[in-house]
Amino acid sequence: MRRSAVSGRFRILGAALAAGVIGAAVSVIGGGAPAIADGEGDGDGDGERLAWAIAIHGGAGTIGKDVPDETRRRYVAGLRRALEQGRDLLVEGTPALDVVERVVRGMEDDPLFNAGKGAVYTADGSHELDAAIMDGETLAAGAVASVRTVKNPVSLARLVMERTPHVLLVGQGADRFAEEMGVDRVEQDYFHTERRRKAYERRRRAAERDERREKAREGGSTVGAVVLDQAGHLAAATSTGGLTLKKFGRVGDVPIIGAGTYANDLFCAVSCTGKGEEFIRHGVAREVAALMEHRGLTLEKAASSVIHETLAEGDGGLIAVGRDGSIALSFNTSGMFRAAADAGGRFEVSIWKTPEALEGD
Ligand code: ASP
Repeated sequence: MRRSAVSGRFRILGAALAAGVIGAAVSVIGGGAPAIADGEGDGDGDGERLAWAIAIHGGAGTIGKDVPDETRRRYVAGLRRALEQGRDLLVEGTPALDVVERVVRGMEDDPLFNAGKGAVYTADGSHELDAAIMDGETLAAGAVASVRTVKNPVSLARLVMERTPHVLLVGQGADRFAEEMGVDRVEQDYFHTERRRKAYERRRRAAERDERREKAREGGSTVGAVVLDQAGHLAAATSTGGLTLKKFGRVGDVPIIGAGTYANDLFCAVSCTGKGEEFIRHGVAREVAALMEHRGLTLEKAASSVIHETLAEGDGGLIAVGRDGSIALSFNTSGMFRAAADAGGRFEVSIWKTPEALEGD
């Protein structure tokens, strides 16, 4: 039996705070601790819940602390913009599904991230994009893989969910569906950025020099959003250009529901980033919910267990929000571009594991 979950047991916290969040000074820190207003929320749904919560990521990977100041500033600004957009929508009472779609769309349009404009190059020098969206209330889900002409793959994923009986459309079929739906289409040139082209050339030369290095992965900037809305519903969305130099037809974890993207109002919403093949093998996003469901783990413990015990060091990370508004930001790489906000007044943007002074960006 399909289950949808709307809890009548929750008391909503932070509704009064919510309005005050807009315009409040941005606190930008580097920590990843969950912010629970009532001190007992743990994602298992037994306590009170925050009125709304959101987490976003802009990819996990090897992010050296020597990253140029200008680049770091741009990432922080991009994440903050996306977080502010999501927060404002949630305060207005926008449904979770609309929030994750709009936030991810915005990040797809930002050339900084490896999704939509700015997607990485495949082995043959083109762009193939993957995206997924999932509604935690109904477990409806939609995804597209290897699309080549779609400006905003996350919105096409939503159309797959809402206008077809299917969950996943791929390749030419998905591009044809985009044509039928009349969504914005673009030439491959649209996705080009100098930065990604250079990364591609660099990796190609390295791969030619040493065949084994072809297996190494060029880090991230995939994007994702997870949200708890004021009605108590969860949603998740993820979008990516995949891995630099990926083989033709390669599909990662992002559009595989339960691997890179998952939402279920009973437990949590999850969006992943990292070595897609590992996330598929371990069904990571669903595994987080399964640990909460079957082992009664808190959101934080479930996320941490999958990232640090199931996966190997360097594989990637995930963001998750529980039905009580608790947030988990877990990764086993040197960094993960991430940001989180909630109705309790949390608003933070982080990159590395240890707190960084990112103020003034
Ligand atoms: N998980 C994505 C993929 O494997 C890439 C990433 O998150 O950086 O396609």
